[in-house]
Order: sequence, then structure tokens, then C-alpha cells
Amino acid sequence: MNIAIDGPAGAGKSTIAKRLAKELGFIYVDTGAMYRAMALYFLKHQMDASDEEEISRASEAVDISIRYQDGEQQVLLNGENVNGKIRSEEVGNMASSTSVYPKVRKKLVALQQKLAADADVIMDGRDIGTCVLPDAEVKIYLTASANTRAKRRYDELRAKGEACDLAAIQEDIEARDYRDMHREESPLRQAKDAVCLDSSDMTVEEVVEKIRSICRERN
Ligand code: C5P
Repeated sequence: MNIAIDGPAGAGKSTIAKRLAKELGFIYVDTGAMYRAMALYFLKHQMDASDEEEISRASEAVDISIRYQDGEQQVLLNGENVNGKIRSEEVGNMASSTSVYPKVRKKLVALQQKLAADADVIMDGRDIGTCVLPDAEVKIYLTASANTRAKRRYDELRAKGEACDLAAIQEDIEARDYRDMHREESPLRQAKDAVCLDSSDMTVEEVVEKIRSICRERN
């Protein structure tokens, strides 16, 4: 059984998916981390995100793989574990700008489909229900208002002691949403057979319970 969770940045996909994966004994696959690992490579080599030819060529040469350590997904970039290096806004923005290219997507989608073929997975991203796992038994489109998502990100950064600006975070989130939803290749959209959940006024537990009950119905 496969569960697909799509939605914009900051909707709570990874928090929910991790909780459910643990509870159901599924493998959690964070596909955003793969786009981020590739983006880290482009940044390290000072590549221009708008140069499709250069980015496409590099994406074919680079090796991205996944390993699980104590149940946590680890992303390897050319054999190096880069989990600790991919969470910055800079890497997120580069991932968003370069995930528009077909060559980048093709490679990572193949890796994602292989992971799902080998195990029961709960996979989150932008195109899981529409493109990566069109036959997933359960599809969720998890969203929240841009303001709520920006506030969550702001609180997260503040808790880590990082200086940040709420308005700038919201602007960034809205720009990323726009790019993800309007790109030609696999844009972010709700699959026809996905259930839409707006988490703006829901607790994590409420969202998890809702998905649990959808899984029970479908099983
Ligand atoms: O989910 P996360 O913020 O880590 O993803 C980073 C970026 O990678 C997204 O903004 C999106 O552009 C891209 N992405 C994608 N397809 C996915 C997962 C992520 O295009 N399945």
C-alpha cells in the first residue's frame, strides 16, 4: 500500500507523514530532500539556475541515493550524507528553481518509483499523487493558508534562535508556491482522486486522525 501526500511548502506534510509512517510501519520518503540534495550540488558548483542546459547536464552526472538510519531517511549526494546541509532557504529556493527542468525530475521520479515498488511507503512532495504514484491507494492534498505556513516557519526559525522576518518568509513561500504551481512539468496540483485537507485550523493530531480514517476506509 502506498500513501501520497502533496501540498505547498509548510503545510505540515513531513510532520504528518513521519508520524503516520511510524504508526503504520511504512517507509517515509521525503522527495523534497532529493531535489534539495541536487540543488546543493548546483550551488556548490556555482551553477546558474536559469541555465537549463548546464543544470540538465549536471543532473545526469550527479548521483543521488537514499539510505535509512534508525528509521530516518538520509540523502546521499555522490556518496556523501548531506542531510545536515539541505534545510536552508538558499537550498530550498535553488531546489524550487531547478525542479522545473524535465531532466532533473526524470531522474528523481525514477528513484522515487523504485523505492515505492520495493516497500509500503508514505511519500510526500508536489507531484506524488499526480505523477510519481498515480495508483497510490490513498492520496492527500495537504494545504494551509500562506499566512499560517509562514507563521509556522517563523516560529521554527525563532525556536532555533535564528533571526528572521515574517513578511519576508511569507513572500518567499508565495513565490515558491507560484513557481511550483505554474511550471510546465508536473506542476503542484490536487490529484482528481485526492482528499484535500486544510490544516490551517487543525492540530497535527487532528490531521493524522483524519488520514488514519481515510486509510481505514480504503483498506
Ligand atoms: O518539500 P521541500 O520544500 O523540501 O521541496 C523543495 C522544493 O523541491 C519544492 O519547492 C519543489 O520545487 C521541489 N519539489 C518538487 N517535487 C517534489 C518535491 C519537491 O518539485 N516531489
